[in-house]
Amino acid sequence: WVKESGRAGFRFHVPRKEVDLLSRMRLDHDMRQALAEGRFRLHYQPQVELGSDRVIGAEALIRWRDPQRGDISPAEFIPLAEESGFVVAIGEWVLREAVGQAAYWLSRGLRMPVAVNVSALQFQQAHFVETVAEVLREAMLPASLLELELTEGVLLGDAEEALKRMRALAGLGVTLSIDDFGTGYSSLGYLKRFPIQRLKIDRSFVQGLPNDASDVGIANAIVQMGRALGLQVIAEGVETEAQRDFLAQAGCHEFQGYLFAKPLRPDEFEQRVRPRRHVVDSPVSGWLGLA
Ligand code: C2E
Ligand code: MG
Ligand code: MG
Ligand code: MG
Repeated sequence: WVKESGRAGFRFHVPRKEVDLLSRMRLDHDMRQALAEGRFRLHYQPQVELGSDRVIGAEALIRWRDPQRGDISPAEFIPLAEESGFVVAIGEWVLREAVGQAAYWLSRGLRMPVAVNVSALQFQQAHFVETVAEVLREAMLPASLLELELTEGVLLGDAEEALKRMRALAGLGVTLSIDDFGTGYSSLGYLKRFPIQRLKIDRSFVQGLPNDASDVGIANAIVQMGRALGLQVIAEGVETEAQRDFLAQAGCHEFQGYLFAKPLRPDEFEQRVRPRRHVVDSPVSGWLGLA
């Protein structure tokens, strides 16, 4: 049996590249089916303000549970969707879903800004700004409750066009932030020119705090630069108190990470932000306290 299988394995050996291609094609197919069948979900990770301990926002993160494959990480399928272009369809679903969630929360008295990840390809769509405006209008959500997380990749290519688009989005009242800040290739100039309100320090620079000398230098530099430009700075991937304490003394007051909370189902998120002492009160009055 062993011999047979060995032989068969040899006979049907497929070069690694083609195995990758096949599995990528299957993943791409399954991803399209998942969207068509409504199998994507969003989880929401709290963003916390130091001191007050208030939850000041929620980042929407896509989740995909496949009946056969189990949970598939967005770190795996989003890059593939970016290559195939399917990320545009996924991104539009995410936008509608997250805006709908924020509107639902608002209708229940919970005024919670939601942050949505926007891939470069999605941002570059000719109708992106109109789509955002339409989604907000349909859900009747104030634009101030929507934040779009852009990556530095958005600025590659036509920077003038990107600037126009950002101005239009900012004009709607949407908040713009730069995600994974420091990992892309950025010129400091765009931070000044572009209507960005927030920087998200990438988790890779938070990881080594407070001991790794280069992470210390990078984190300090980002916080100082952000503050000098009047931007909010939030640290992502904060897992330990030592990381939080270092960032706080560096001047960063907003945090997102497992130390505070993992990405949560919408119902879990609601429970989390509802002050304990109001649990027996009307939920609406409890939530309004957070607004
Ligand atoms: P991101 O936007 O930088 O999101 C932060 C990632 O860090 C999330 O991974 C989150 O679950 C994870 N994270 C949060 N706190 C911690 C922590 O304390 N420690 C560690 N180790 N990780 C933490 P996730 O959900 O797997 O998403 C990975 C990436 O996939 C995101 O990185 C984003 O680039 C992309 N992504 C997720 N959802 C969407 C989406 O709806 N649209 C687009 N275009 N991209 C998305
Ligand atoms: Mg993000
Ligand atoms: Mg990020
Ligand atoms: Mg990141």
